[in-house]
Amino acid sequence: MTEEFPIDQPAESQSTAITTTSSFRASPQPDTRLYIPNHENWQARIKADTEKIYCYSKLPGEDFFHLILNGEIYLIGETEKYCLRCALRLGIATQDRLFWQNRVLKRSSSKL
Ligand SMILES: [Zn+2]
Repeated sequence: MTEEFPIDQPAESQSTAITTTSSFRASPQPDTRLYIPNHENWQARIKADTEKIYCYSKLPGEDFFHLILNGEIYLIGETEKYCLRCALRLGIATQDRLFWQNRVLKRSSSKL
């Protein structure tokens, strides 16, 4: 019985591995692109020095500013720095690829 078990299992795990791979192929990578609607005031940086940088925002329920890690992409404004998570939460960054269309619509409707 102990011999049968290992024989059965690899076959099973192999088939699940195949379905996982094919389902991975079927579903594309999540769209992780970020857009900064008011990009004039912001710059994206990759933290790559030894200086300690903290995000200027706290997550709700957290009472500390979190450290931006080396290699982490963050945003610099005129005076403030934000991690991408907080930038998204604060509306500085958006995942909405059509943000510019919404703007154009707003502008053209105000003209009319
Ligand atoms: Zn943050």
